[in-house]
Amino acid sequence: MANNYNRVYNFAAGPAVLPVEVLEIARDDMLNYHGSGMSVMEMSHRSKTYDNIIKTAESDLRELMNIPDNYKVLFLQGGANLQFSMVPINLLKNGEADYIVTGQWAKKAYIEAQKYGKINKIASSEDKNFSYIPDCSDLDISPNSDYVYICENNTIYGTKFHTLPNTKGKILVSDMSSCFLSEPVDVTKYGLIFAGVQKNAGPAGVQIVIIREDLIREDLPSWCPVMLKYKTHSDNNSLYNTPPAYGIYICGLVFKWIKKTGGLEIMKQINDKKAKILYDFLDNSKLFKGTVEKESRSVMNVPFVTGSDELDKLFIEQAQKAGFVQLKGHRTVGGMRASIYNAMPVDGVIGLVDFMSKFEKENLQK
Ligand SMILES: *Cc1c(COP(=O)(O)O)cnc(C)c1O
Repeated sequence: MANNYNRVYNFAAGPAVLPVEVLEIARDDMLNYHGSGMSVMEMSHRSKTYDNIIKTAESDLRELMNIPDNYKVLFLQGGANLQFSMVPINLLKNGEADYIVTGQWAKKAYIEAQKYGKINKIASSEDKNFSYIPDCSDLDISPNSDYVYICENNTIYGTKFHTLPNTKGKILVSDMSSCFLSEPVDVTKYGLIFAGVQKNAGPAGVQIVIIREDLIREDLPSWCPVMLKYKTHSDNNSLYNTPPAYGIYICGLVFKWIKKTGGLEIMKQINDKKAKILYDFLDNSKLFKGTVEKESRSVMNVPFVTGSDELDKLFIEQAQKAGFVQLKGHRTVGGMRASIYNAMPVDGVIGLVDFMSKFEKENLQK
């Protein structure tokens, strides 16, 4: 292995690989964080030391993503799945929204939102098992729509919106869980961005919401739980109740690591390079092939198949033994999926492609 810890190359979709440098800092800080005499896990979230951790995490994230002052950054819990409820509860004013359904996560969000209003499915790629991103340049957006919803990178299917939909002036809401911090984004194009950090930015348990201030409302239905109002968390700088304190600390270390690497532009260059190595191999392979349309390919999640269930199984087994783990595809796609998030080193992808090439030679002869 290419490190001192006998670590494998972990291609899991999430929870996923974290940078070794981040884990090393966490290890060194574990028993006595910066002279506090305790670990971050044992610390009051109201202490001065912790206040500095959460404020630094927020300001580093703002710097990395160039988040304008009229957007709030919230550190929440409940996973991306809770946002499937919080988004409609907080943003439906007219009671109508438009959803673009490009995978299971978008579909779940679409179904959940129906509890709260008239939810229109204005585009979908379900007809071809979500293997492409539909043309969203001229959709039938409802005049009453409070927002247009997308899942920007479809973790399970390996597709990504390379062009944002034309929302015809409506607010865009994006589930960015699996492409968060993988490339620069223009935050001003969105009303709300959310991301579960366990894909590309930290450990499970933290949910980051970036929301334009004017969308944070007071006048919500009286049944709305206090914990589900963005206003509650915004008014209290994510400290209304005990936040996922240790997870936020790790996210802060990941933000510092990205800054040190050179920021999101450099991150994108490295990610594009890794994806190109893998896609070029797939395009030229006689055994393996990608499962999505080329123009819709994700840079983060790369599903592929051999066309034979037995060979897929054999490949996953042998790859695991060789130190390339968590390559099994989602049950709805089958085959394999390599998630190559920020923290996956280029060497991991080169190693995987070498292994695939060897496997191909051995198994094409048969
Ligand atoms: C993983 C994932 C989710 C679900 O996240 P949870 O934190 O488990 O709720 C939602 N959307 C996308 C795009 C994901 O990748």
